[in-house]
Amino acid sequence: MERRITIPPKTRELLSRLSSAGFAAYAVGGCVRDSLLGQTPQDWDICTSARPEEILVCFQAERTILTGVRYGTVTVLLDGEAFEVTTFRTDLGYSDSRHPDGVRFLDTLRGDLARRDFTVNAMAADAEGRVTDCFGGVEDLKNGRIRCVGVPEERFSEDALRILRALRFAARLGFAVEDGTAAAIHALRSRLTAVAPERLRKELCGLVCGAHAAEVMERFSDALCVVLPELAPCIGFAQYNPHHAYDVWRHTLCALKNVPPQEPLRLAALLHDIGKPSTFFFDKNLVGHFYGHATVGAAMSEALLRRLHYDGATVKTVTTLVREHGLALEDTDERRMRRLLARFGEQTVRQLLALRRADRLGKGRDDGAQIEAQTQRLTALLERTLAEEQCLSLKTLALNGDDLLAMGVPRGKRIGKLLKCLLSAVVDGETPNERTALVSFAQNLLSAEEWD
Ligand code: ATP
Ligand code: MG
Repeated sequence: MERRITIPPKTRELLSRLSSAGFAAYAVGGCVRDSLLGQTPQDWDICTSARPEEILVCFQAERTILTGVRYGTVTVLLDGEAFEVTTFRTDLGYSDSRHPDGVRFLDTLRGDLARRDFTVNAMAADAEGRVTDCFGGVEDLKNGRIRCVGVPEERFSEDALRILRALRFAARLGFAVEDGTAAAIHALRSRLTAVAPERLRKELCGLVCGAHAAEVMERFSDALCVVLPELAPCIGFAQYNPHHAYDVWRHTLCALKNVPPQEPLRLAALLHDIGKPSTFFFDKNLVGHFYGHATVGAAMSEALLRRLHYDGATVKTVTTLVREHGLALEDTDERRMRRLLARFGEQTVRQLLALRRADRLGKGRDDGAQIEAQTQRLTALLERTLAEEQCLSLKTLALNGDDLLAMGVPRGKRIGKLLKCLLSAVVDGETPNERTALVSFAQNLLSAEEWD
């Protein structure tokens, strides 16, 4: 039966432009897969028999960016929307695990589909939306299966990143990994060590944020541990603690399942207890404890994230969440909420609440309804506190460093320290956030002997 998908107008325009110049042109990969699944594609990639210089000629009137001429990719901007247009090609190996050593351009679609990783990603559609499926992708989509195009061992040996990609697609789509493909993943997982960190990071993000991440990570924990060896000691690590029903790894996966799919939160959930195995000890009653595991885990997380070349902001957020995940937030009152907001900022406080909830749910011991009720109370308190528009950061403090200098405070560390004290005083309600009140509060502080 002929399958058809709907091609949106701009994509159709692009395809027609290429075909009226005499080239074969198709939408390919993720957009075809997602359309067949009834989902809206993120972007529409195009493949064509046109060589890069011919693509440039076809789109002379448009803005074009030579993203990877060597590999046959041109980015075309059509009315502000970016499309990657890539010449049919076959890859000539990935000896640096970063980029293909080279590509050979092809004249027909089939060879280009054959180089693609999984059957569900190896389908194309023409301007009319007619689907070409050479490797059984439609069938695998129907059955919810991730299967390599060709011999899995060969495909993972060519480019080990595909191992992590298989897990990423399984986690996102909730698909099973076909037996032969799964066996090759287990057998060749150690090859992931050769893959460049920035390539790993992108796929890891997709994996941790997938709706089915926890199941996939459980089934393929051996492969995941090649990328994140810090997780290995957690697997099967019994906690010998009445508050915990599960071992560290099962608990971690439960927590992960219970945070929303935002990268920093998912990463924090995945890493929050990695400090546990190395800090474990028995007390005299043979109960297990992990004192300091959050601090140890934060340091391990920082090293791990830097190794994968995460950006500074993500490293900082995730590390903070791991370090502070044990904060008992349940009894938080107005004043403490203001303090938390002043210390961490709104976004991190929201994330801490989400992580705390998931961590508690993941223990498998506490009453779920009570956890939800407490989380709701805290969220409501957070919203109320924010709505009061109180001063919770130095930015909105009614006095600044220049004011202190003008008061005669010498330039240097003291200024910063003094500002922090003033902010705490405002947050704690000891002084209103008004200039004159703050000036006299500062003068009092300065005249107090013990200050400094
Ligand atoms: P998403 O919607 O998540 O971006 P996608 O299928 O578009 O999914 P991309 O990583 O953008 O995934 O890759 C685009 C297409 O290129 C894939 O569908 C696949 O056909 C092919 N592809 C990408 N990376 C590889 C690889 N390492 N080996 C083989 N084929 C690949
Ligand atoms: Mg894509």
